[in-house]
Amino acid sequence: MAIDKTQVLAALRAVSSPRGVALTEAKVLSEITASDGKVFFSINVDASEARAWEDVRAKAEAAVRRIPGVTTAMVALTAERRPGTAPAPQQHSHQHSHGVKPVAQHRPHGGPADSPMNQQAAIPGIGSIIAVASGKGGVGKSTTALNLALALRDLGLRVGLLDADIYGPSVPRLTGVREKPTVNDAKKMIPITRFGMPLMSIGFLVEEDTAMVWRGPMVMSAIRQMLWDVAWGELDVLVVDMPPGTGDAQLTLAQQVPLRGVVIVSTPQDLALIDARRGIAMFDKVNVPTLGIIENMSYFQCPECGTRSDIFGHGGARHEAERLKVPFLGEIPLHMAIRTSSDAGTPVVDSEPESVHARIYRAIATDIKQQLTGAAHAV
Ligand code: ADP
Repeated sequence: MAIDKTQVLAALRAVSSPRGVALTEAKVLSEITASDGKVFFSINVDASEARAWEDVRAKAEAAVRRIPGVTTAMVALTAERRPGTAPAPQQHSHQHSHGVKPVAQHRPHGGPADSPMNQQAAIPGIGSIIAVASGKGGVGKSTTALNLALALRDLGLRVGLLDADIYGPSVPRLTGVREKPTVNDAKKMIPITRFGMPLMSIGFLVEEDTAMVWRGPMVMSAIRQMLWDVAWGELDVLVVDMPPGTGDAQLTLAQQVPLRGVVIVSTPQDLALIDARRGIAMFDKVNVPTLGIIENMSYFQCPECGTRSDIFGHGGARHEAERLKVPFLGEIPLHMAIRTSSDAGTPVVDSEPESVHARIYRAIATDIKQQLTGAAHAV
């Protein structure tokens, strides 16, 4: 049965708000997205009021879920902080409850007392969160994020993957997952397990083009929910596939997610490198260390004869890494096997673990693992 906004608004009229009026009258609702039984919207309030609204958020979500035909309801609470006001009260526990490594989510540079970093809450059960980012789209960031996550898994780590590329979630395509996450008794979304890893993507919840039209706060709110309201379980590493680019959405994400470090993916071309440099600068600004640069589609390897040709003037990223004094993590060739396996939902590290490509990803993952566990970068 098709659900429309009118039904959602009717259900929300029965939910009262701390402002003494019905939720629908409180002027806090975002645009409501209702398609195919899935309903999404956010409640936007000032950070100083956020705590009082959490209960409303939960009630609104429950009310929408009760509408016959609704399969997924996700209501996000967006607490925007006005300049000059006090920081938002923490809505998520700081405590590590499951014996997580104490160094986890540690910020090497620290930050000033009023830094946005202080609004970050660690995620219980997750050791380190690392971002895979790129200065622009189409450089193979998502393919790299997934294969790296699998390579870290192969090194014996408990790994999860969060597709935060809200404007173009590609993890459903890259993993072949079409299922919808369900919700457990504790009201947490249960991630989809594939390749022995929990996966979460906005693409599991909405159609690829739905999220494209979301406004910034809604994007952030959805990502916060995918981080904190998901039953990730015990993980050593959560790999976050970031949205490409260095705009406001990316900056907010980098500020609000407790990142241990970032891996920048670039192609060898000059233009991509300029964008990559911008990416590094952005993460640097918010004190997220760069774990290194990966040069993707670095050289062409002929699928028939194995001959290598440097059609793009490979090596630019290594040179750039040296210049910027950040680690260079490795080169991944442009190869048909990487493309076809990734587009078929059977990523190469999993489907061809003995291939030269899988080895390259594992070598990069080894370097990252060493950095996460405190050992220096090998090169
Ligand atoms: P992004 O996340 O940067 O937009 P994707 O990971 O979706 O990029 O990759 C874009 C396209 O390039 C996909 O079709 C993917 O299969 C392909 N691709 C990525 N890396 C490689 C590679 N090393 N060799 C061949 N094709 C690749």
